[in-house]
Amino acid sequence: MKKVVVIGAGFAGLMAIKQLVKSKNLEITLINDRDYFLFTPRLTELLNNSISEKIVIKPIKEIFGNKVDFIEGKADFIDFEHNVIKIKKRYVKYDFLIMAQGATTNFFESKNIEKYTIGYKDYGAVLKIKEKIKNSIKQYSETKKKEFLAFAVIGAGLTGIELICSLREFVVEEIKKYPNIDKKDAKFLILQSGSIIVPQFPNRVGKIIEKYFRKNSIELMAGTRVENIKNNAIISGNKSLKAATIIWTAGIKANTIKSNPTLALDKGKTIRTTSKLKIPEYVDVYAAGDAALLMENNAPLASTAQTAWQEGINIGKNILRRINGKKEKDFHYFHKGTLIVLGRNHGVFTYKAITFDGKFAWHFRHLFYKFRFWQIT
Ligand SMILES: Cc1cc2nc3c(=O)[nH]c(=O)nc-3n(C[C@H](O)[C@H](O)[C@H](O)COP(=O)(O)OP(=O)(O)OC[C@H]3O[C@@H](n4cnc5c(N)ncnc54)[C@H](O)[C@@H]3O)c2cc1C
Repeated sequence: MKKVVVIGAGFAGLMAIKQLVKSKNLEITLINDRDYFLFTPRLTELLNNSISEKIVIKPIKEIFGNKVDFIEGKADFIDFEHNVIKIKKRYVKYDFLIMAQGATTNFFESKNIEKYTIGYKDYGAVLKIKEKIKNSIKQYSETKKKEFLAFAVIGAGLTGIELICSLREFVVEEIKKYPNIDKKDAKFLILQSGSIIVPQFPNRVGKIIEKYFRKNSIELMAGTRVENIKNNAIISGNKSLKAATIIWTAGIKANTIKSNPTLALDKGKTIRTTSKLKIPEYVDVYAAGDAALLMENNAPLASTAQTAWQEGINIGKNILRRINGKKEKDFHYFHKGTLIVLGRNHGVFTYKAITFDGKFAWHFRHLFYKFRFWQIT
């Protein structure tokens, strides 16, 4: 029986396994450094308490039962010459390996940014942000220092945009507990170095977001390159913006695993793959999702759940083809549109020339993601 080892229980890893479990001739091991799957596109909705954890987080053991051997731990080292993975003191052999260990926050080697901001990648970050907001509001009520009522998100990509909207709603709710604070005194900032937000989408999408920001007193500071963060201050050129709560969403880098031989990594520490999502040097090693980089039409595929999902399926099917003596197929990404959430009631859907937003888009997104969560878990 051939043994497949998957590193990473994210979108790519789980979707690959969903295919692999169809075969009775494979032994599957999943290694993940936490014991649950996290549906990241809905993380912001846990911040403003608009949905239940049950449709965002699922224990891995409940997903595959005993069909998959689950090892909770961090894959520390891969010996590609002998097909072995090291996890703490344990060694696991593989015939096929899928590297799908995702990505983490990129603080661009700045100790200050890492120290004074909160990275936003997992559920732990949501809990940290809630705690920080509660403390800041309490400190404001005691000192009346304005910086405690200023909340900043750095990075106006989709993650940052969704986050500032949800964060504002959480702050507004918290302030209600303090009769001596006027919610109008709270300041919400979102900063980015580029001059246009979401340039990858039609203009209309940016306009919808900017309109939402204006209506909800969220200040968009485009063209503001953050150079440093000092305690409660964001430094950009000769400007210093005071904020006690600062969240960093301005970049990601792939999670890396030491190996022998060492893998040559691409931009953002990603593993560049062939069109069959394999590492060029090793025919039995695949890489997918945020940890990997595949070029299509001379551009890298975006690091999204949608890409990871489709790549995972392709890898799973290709391994099944191989064990059945069939030829593997190339991967081709198929974009199905983008869903965005702006607070509790406002969604946006955009696909080519079609863009719609509002309450209907929110419900559409809610149902679609519930369905996706059910499919993957
Ligand atoms: C807040 C937020 C919102 C997002 N919103 C969207 C969205 O709306 N739409 C969208 O398409 N994308 C969105 N994304 C991006 C999306 O989450 C990623 O592109 C997607 O999760 C990538 O899937 P993956 O399988 O590569 O990695 P992940 O889903 O990150 O899974 C990787 C897994 O590997 C584990 N791991 C890491 N290192 C090791 C190791 N050494 N050993 C063992 N396990 C390890 C991690 O703990 C994790 O469980 C969002 C991301 C964030 C953070």
